[in-house]
Amino acid sequence: MCPRHKKVGVVGLLTTSRYEYVKAFEQPDILLPNTWIVVRIDGRGFHKLSDHYVFKKPNDLRALDLMNAAAVEVMKDLPDLCIAYGVSDEFSFVFHPSCQLFERRNAKLVTTIVSTFTAHYIHQWGTYFPSTPLQPPYLPSFDGRAVIYPTTRILRDYMSWRQVDCHINNLYNTTFWTMVLQGGMSNTDAEQELKGTVSSDKNEILFKRFGINYNNELEIYKKGSVLYRQYELQTPNSAQTPTEEDTSVPESTQSRSQQDKLRKLRRKAQVVVDHVDIIKDEFWERRPWILSNKPGKLPA
Ligand code: ATP
Ligand code: ATP
Ligand code: MG
Ligand code: MG
Repeated sequence: MCPRHKKVGVVGLLTTSRYEYVKAFEQPDILLPNTWIVVRIDGRGFHKLSDHYVFKKPNDLRALDLMNAAAVEVMKDLPDLCIAYGVSDEFSFVFHPSCQLFERRNAKLVTTIVSTFTAHYIHQWGTYFPSTPLQPPYLPSFDGRAVIYPTTRILRDYMSWRQVDCHINNLYNTTFWTMVLQGGMSNTDAEQELKGTVSSDKNEILFKRFGINYNNELEIYKKGSVLYRQYELQTPNSAQTPTEEDTSVPESTQSRSQQDKLRKLRRKAQVVVDHVDIIKDEFWERRPWILSNKPGKLPA
């Protein structure tokens, strides 16, 4: 029988209507099980928005602190997140392979993160930009997507990719804006001169022409921001780096009460904002709970 002509009836308390067949048009979008889920959000049109609110070039610290403050609230709201990394107008939020939130439905995960982040970003705007209130049409909004990564190695390469990108862009932007703002060059002249240069050339321009040692720039500019739950740090060698097998135990095999217990423990931990290297092993070895998803000892 055509679902459209399904009988309208009451089964217990469950009411069905002749219109319910439309539900079947909804497409399933469940993300592959036992894979890392990264939801990356990015500010829409932030180039224009940053001009309108007169962000300092190349780095406005208030804007970065606001991004981090919104991301901390997302991490607090969703204890299933194990780490997040932010640079410029983007943030990557990482769910563990064992995550079962929203049955791993793509749209639910992405839209929840995007809207929670945007809500907090707008809510806290005034704290970071007290003298420039938000004005339509320059209202901050973000897009988002979920990408799955099958192994811990690839997840770490993804994180490294974002941090390397941060470094490359920041070195370029720092040199470019120094040439323009301190060197009085036009945007086009600075761009022309930087075309085809490598890192050492840019370091040299900064140092020889402007006396700026790039190494002395703020860590938040050079390394971006990494957010995670804080437990007692482990010494790199004694700590066990989780194996691929450790990270792939499906949470669906854990009981509900076990899942709830873990979630409660995660909520107790403080979410911290760090500006450190996440490419080398040390960061992950000292914080094994990020990849294992087993809460550590709360710091005394
Ligand atoms: P899209 O909508 O395609 O993302 P976009 O204008 O947001 O376009 P992005 O490539 O995301 O472009 O770049 C973000 C831009 O926002 C940067 O190039 C920079 O101009 C500006 N921006 C973001 N954060 C800051 C900041 N903290 N300080 C100064 N400028 C910033
Ligand atoms: P989820 O997070 O899975 O979306 P939900 O609690 O938001 O869960 P929905 O299936 O989206 O559940 O249903 C929305 C519910 O919100 C409705 O069942 C109704 O109880 C309530 N609701 C939504 N809009 C209104 C409204 N205008 N007036 C009264 N109640 C509303
Ligand atoms: Mg953007
Ligand atoms: Mg961007």
